Amino acid sequence: MPSLRGLVVRSQSGFYTVNTETGLWMCRLRGRLKRGPRLGDIVSVGDWVRLTPLEYQTGIIDEIEPRVRALSRLAPDPRGEYHQVILANPDQTVYVFSCSQPEPRFGLLDRFLVISERQGIPALIVANKIDLVGNKKAKSLFGHYPMLGYPVVYTSALTGKGVQELCTRLVGKISVCAGPSGAGKSSLLNAILPGFDLSALRVSRATGKGRHSTVVREMFPLPGGGYVADTPGLKALALWDIAAEELDGYFPELRPLVSQCQFNNCTHSQEPGCAVRAAVEQGRVHPQRYRSYLRMRFGEEE
Ligand code: GDP
Ligand code: ZN
Repeated sequence: MPSLRGLVVRSQSGFYTVNTETGLWMCRLRGRLKRGPRLGDIVSVGDWVRLTPLEYQTGIIDEIEPRVRALSRLAPDPRGEYHQVILANPDQTVYVFSCSQPEPRFGLLDRFLVISERQGIPALIVANKIDLVGNKKAKSLFGHYPMLGYPVVYTSALTGKGVQELCTRLVGKISVCAGPSGAGKSSLLNAILPGFDLSALRVSRATGKGRHSTVVREMFPLPGGGYVADTPGLKALALWDIAAEELDGYFPELRPLVSQCQFNNCTHSQEPGCAVRAAVEQGRVHPQRYRSYLRMRFGEEE
């Protein structure tokens, strides 16, 4: 039988579930792929691979295609920096926050958005629990994000409002979701994904420890095509691999202002002739975003 091309949708203890035109194949890695120095996982969920079919829908992965992009982190390791892929080839990051209960933590959202910018992955914001605050209040909370390039979908997992729009945004893509607990991420995924097992996810979260707890082990197929993955570990993505002087470059609204500051090493805090501060004062930069920038710049925990 000729080799097959497919997408890794699940990984568990050295077994990879690969989705191909002829269904799901349970695969192991060809031995030679495991040799040599390791700078990270050899295969990740989201990778495209070629496999040699064996009997009973099992196979051997012979080849991993180069990744277009990856959501990754540099994990400190005794052997040096370990390039840990959380998910290969994501099309977008999806950040779920609630409008209320709990109150949205914009500092955390902005931190997530910096990670997306840094990794070159488009970001979508989901503002959930609009049933608790109404449309107007929800827009006053999240309305400044679309003009920065981050679309916002307003949803209620409780009433179903906006869930269809969210599906439309997800279909045909590989999306990776993150958000603070209690925001309603599981409720939304339950509404969207048939067979999504919330309880199993909770168990794996509770037992997930160590280096691999942040890595995506499974992505779930959407009815109309595409996949959604969940990661509990994005918070663990430190910003330490972003130099403090580069941070302003990951805020789309600050990026074009930086060159207009009087000093070229301006931190945009106290310096005279700061174009960023001027823009904040004139209402061209949202004060909350500026606050987030300062907290990240000067190392305050979120
Ligand atoms: P997760 O921790 O982000 O996965 O959040 P869950 O999906 O477990 O939801 C946390 C709590 O918020 C649960 O009690 C849900 O029933 C509730 N919840 C989720 N979505 C909504 C919503 O849209 N509106 C309201 N009022 N409650 C919601
Ligand atoms: Zn400045």
